[in-house]
Amino acid sequence: MSDHDVDLFVIGAGSGGVRAARVASSYGARVMIAEEHRVGGTCVIRGCVPKKLLVYASRFSDEFEDAAGFGWTVPGPTFYWPTLIANVDREVARLEAAYTSTLDRFNVTLINSRAVLEDSHTVRLTNGTRVRAETILISTGAWPHYGPKIPGIEHAMSSNEAFQLKQLPKRIVIQGGGYIAVEFACIFAGLGSQITLVYRGENILRGFDDDIREHLRNEMRGRGITVTCGHTVAAIEPAGDEFVTRLSDNSTIASDIVMFAIGRRPNVMGLGIESVGVRIHERGGIDVDQYSRTPVANIYAVGDVTNRVNLTPVAIREGHAFADTVYGGKPTPVDHANVPTAVFSEPELGVIGLTEQQARERHAKVDIYKTSFRPMKATLSGRNTRVFMKLVVDGATDQVIGCHIAGPDAGELIQVIGVAVKMGVTKADFDATMAVHPTAAEELVTMREKAASYSRAAAE
Ligand SMILES: Cc1cc2nc3c(=O)[nH]c(=O)nc-3n(C[C@H](O)[C@H](O)[C@H](O)COP(=O)(O)OP(=O)(O)OC[C@H]3O[C@@H](n4cnc5c(N)ncnc54)[C@H](O)[C@@H]3O)c2cc1C
Repeated sequence: MSDHDVDLFVIGAGSGGVRAARVASSYGARVMIAEEHRVGGTCVIRGCVPKKLLVYASRFSDEFEDAAGFGWTVPGPTFYWPTLIANVDREVARLEAAYTSTLDRFNVTLINSRAVLEDSHTVRLTNGTRVRAETILISTGAWPHYGPKIPGIEHAMSSNEAFQLKQLPKRIVIQGGGYIAVEFACIFAGLGSQITLVYRGENILRGFDDDIREHLRNEMRGRGITVTCGHTVAAIEPAGDEFVTRLSDNSTIASDIVMFAIGRRPNVMGLGIESVGVRIHERGGIDVDQYSRTPVANIYAVGDVTNRVNLTPVAIREGHAFADTVYGGKPTPVDHANVPTAVFSEPELGVIGLTEQQARERHAKVDIYKTSFRPMKATLSGRNTRVFMKLVVDGATDQVIGCHIAGPDAGELIQVIGVAVKMGVTKADFDATMAVHPTAAEELVTMREKAASYSRAAAE
């Protein structure tokens, strides 16, 4: 008889952990899952879901303004933050309950406790209880970090606390240039706050295509957001009801809150993993192979804690693939190439595949098709905004290897384009597809002129 209490112990009930637990259980495994905070993890409690609800809220201000050009008279709309937050909280609680009942329905035992490793088969709970498990899955996610210690850093908040603010701040300094910083800048600006975004790099959204970075930065500036690149926050000083933020060039900005969104670190602190032989790679995540297995044969890790591609659908896919591999008799590696993704900024971004720069580094000949145009709705609303679209094509095979969109519903668009790109779509396939008129998306299949043609051979 087995000397294990359970077949699988999952540490962390977020996107990856919950999926792995329920699928493993459906294959007949006896599964226990520990959660130290709230079931659902980052995505449900303090990430994608509440954030997207705030995004929806923030976009009404444009809609009210735009309506005038279409003949509507909207009497001065007012916004009340506590109503929004109470409604968001209620939806988050509903989802948390739904996740919890799913675990229950799949006979997964939920333990509301922190769990750490004692040895490769033993997990210790906060109350000292020890559980012996044949297999352990670490799905503890990631946590915001604040960078090097600066004077007054204790006054800064992260995106976690943004969902708990009692009132809408009038003036906000946000440090960071990644998608979370950019999204919160646009959310708060849409709700009426005055935003200064401070980023140490030369442009926001490092890793995204340069054209799309420039486009979004200009659009954000056009919406009144101050984007200050090449600087960092050097100190935060309380001054009465406000804070004075000193930047690296000694300039100062007064605001009601200061938010840091400079990155997230894998949750590995105090887990006891090093002592059992689990390794941390140079980017701070747990080192795993394509099956999410650590060098310790019975210990696996999925999701943000591995710091591969830190997105909810990826964590879910990794959790599912782990369960298929270990309990379903179907070894399933996870393909991390061509993951479509959205940035819920204003305008929204949808991207997949290589940036132009990455394509040029990897392919001998690259064809670029790009367009920027005023969306039809803006003709009557008078809004000063443009849509941007770009296709990156491998000149040798005609395959579309990158697509970058800034404009309304870009996230929805890139989900569908993602299927085609994953199937190896060519530019000729785009050209052969009939346009849907009148839409913005039709521009994707009507771009004929190469914006730039680059041949590495010619350049060398
Ligand atoms: C503001 C924000 C917006 C985001 N927006 C998007 C988006 O639009 N789209 C998208 O795809 N992704 C988005 N993400 C990223 C997404 O939320 C994460 O990639 C995803 O939640 C990772 O899932 P996970 O299972 O790895 O970890 P998590 O969901 O973080 O779950 C880990 C869980 O483990 C628990 N835990 C940690 N340590 C222990 C322990 N020792 N014992 C017990 N429990 C423990 C934690 O409390 C947590 O509940 C966003 C993230 C943030 C912060």
